Amino acid sequence: MKYLDCISRHAAGDPNKIAISVSDGRCMTYGQLECASNKIASFIDRTTARKEFSSASPVVVYGHKDPLMVACFLGCLKSGHPYVPIDIHSVPRDRALGIMGQVGPSIVFEVESSSAGSLATGTNEAASHGGGCSSSYEFVDRGELERLVTTDDASAISANAVSGDDLAYIIFTSGSTGAPKGVQVTADCFDNFCQWALSIGSQHASRENAVFLNQAPFSFDLSVYELSQALWAGATLHCLTKQAQDDARELIRSLGDSGATIWVSTPSFAELCLANLEFGAELLPRCDLFLFCGEALRNTTAARLQERFPSALIANTYGPTESTVAVTSVIVTPEMFTSNEPLHCGVPKPGTEIRIAKNIDEDTFSVEEAEAGELGEIVIVGDTVARGYFQRDDLTQRSFGELLLNGERVRAYRTGDEGFLDEGGNLHCRGRIDLQVKLNGFRIELGEIEESLARLPQVKEAAVVLVKKSESSSHLEAHVVSAVPRVESDFREGLALKEKLKKTLPHYMIPKKVVFRDALPMTPNGKIDRKALA
Ligand code: AMP
Repeated sequence: MKYLDCISRHAAGDPNKIAISVSDGRCMTYGQLECASNKIASFIDRTTARKEFSSASPVVVYGHKDPLMVACFLGCLKSGHPYVPIDIHSVPRDRALGIMGQVGPSIVFEVESSSAGSLATGTNEAASHGGGCSSSYEFVDRGELERLVTTDDASAISANAVSGDDLAYIIFTSGSTGAPKGVQVTADCFDNFCQWALSIGSQHASRENAVFLNQAPFSFDLSVYELSQALWAGATLHCLTKQAQDDARELIRSLGDSGATIWVSTPSFAELCLANLEFGAELLPRCDLFLFCGEALRNTTAARLQERFPSALIANTYGPTESTVAVTSVIVTPEMFTSNEPLHCGVPKPGTEIRIAKNIDEDTFSVEEAEAGELGEIVIVGDTVARGYFQRDDLTQRSFGELLLNGERVRAYRTGDEGFLDEGGNLHCRGRIDLQVKLNGFRIELGEIEESLARLPQVKEAAVVLVKKSESSSHLEAHVVSAVPRVESDFREGLALKEKLKKTLPHYMIPKKVVFRDALPMTPNGKIDRKALA
């Protein structure tokens, strides 16, 4: 994998350079990262052999913004295993156990333990999701991991690094059928994405002396943007912890201390920062490139940002986890953000084409293409399209296929996004054709929340909608038909349901409001009338 080769070269050339720094002051140099990841890789080799795990079984890495998390990711890649990153603050413990259950027998690096209890004590729950019993997992807690990277003899360097079509990582995203689904990204996808991403705005920003800002938790593919580019380029990745992001004053202080030169975030996070007048070029004097992905970048956001950072470039990029972070990009100009047209997402990267499908044959995956300017489903064809969903052939078959690209059959993914290509080949994204929504940059399948509600004995039927209050403010609302007589006020009953959901759903998937109804409104053809609810 070219990525690993680049990191080893940086470690040999400048071992004392900071590879990863964290807003709480921790950091790790390239030399330390290389050494720690080699030791972890060799530990994975030994454990895989001892426990008779399969040679490419996924490895769960659980924790938060921590240099040791990154060392574990690299250790997995170096030993030929894909890593499954799970952020302790975005993924409730029960959901993490569900993911472990899906992954099955594996090594689990518990870089941090949840206050709700170690994952090691929840293997029965994991087993109920399809995983094995506790002996099926090899847990490595923080203490053991620290001992391993400081004292273990690294003379045996793993020779099994992932490459080509091997899996590099599996990121679990919200799944419409009620459980998260794992997107399997290969080593080639990763390398292909990274090489292109480094070229976005490169005329402006130097890369090897760059400090890439990391906002997103490692369990979201947005974080792959800055993690992969920083380490590939021999630059520094600066991670903002949840604690630094949760408090407005702390956030501004941490941003000021970060020295960030390249900003990577969702537009929602930039909007949050823009609300503070201190956020500008004085706070981040070296920041000259803003990379956005994950949701629509609004014209007004780009305009306000440009005003605060007059000499910075702003890039809008588009892509789903299923095609390795992003596949199109554009540098947003003042002409673009002052026009009435919503910002477009630019042109595809080399090695990728966007097809707009008027129709897709479900059996053959053949696409009837739309004309320029005509709306249809966005289909991505190219060298960063993932292998599919982990152990979900049914879902993979529905969304992934192959299409011809320059005379060759190449992997393709139907995104569920609606959009069009203009005459200049720019992609315009106009929303979803299904029940997936984005809230503050988080990808949410409404169906997963509905399914989680419907599993509660108190609930007979449920529908969840995204209610848009204004351009910049939306929230989730659950409409519920109760299965039992309600004894408390609707407010209290709603709170009780939300508490139950919190066990398995991330905080951003918990509806703000629960409305009890005698029945859900129906359209004439018998479907839930979501428009009426929203
Ligand atoms: P995720 O897998 O979390 O990265 O979410 C992917 C989805 O986010 C896409 O399928 C789109 O619906 C949305 N998305 C990503 N980038 C953009 C963008 N630049 N503009 C509009 N929507 C976007």
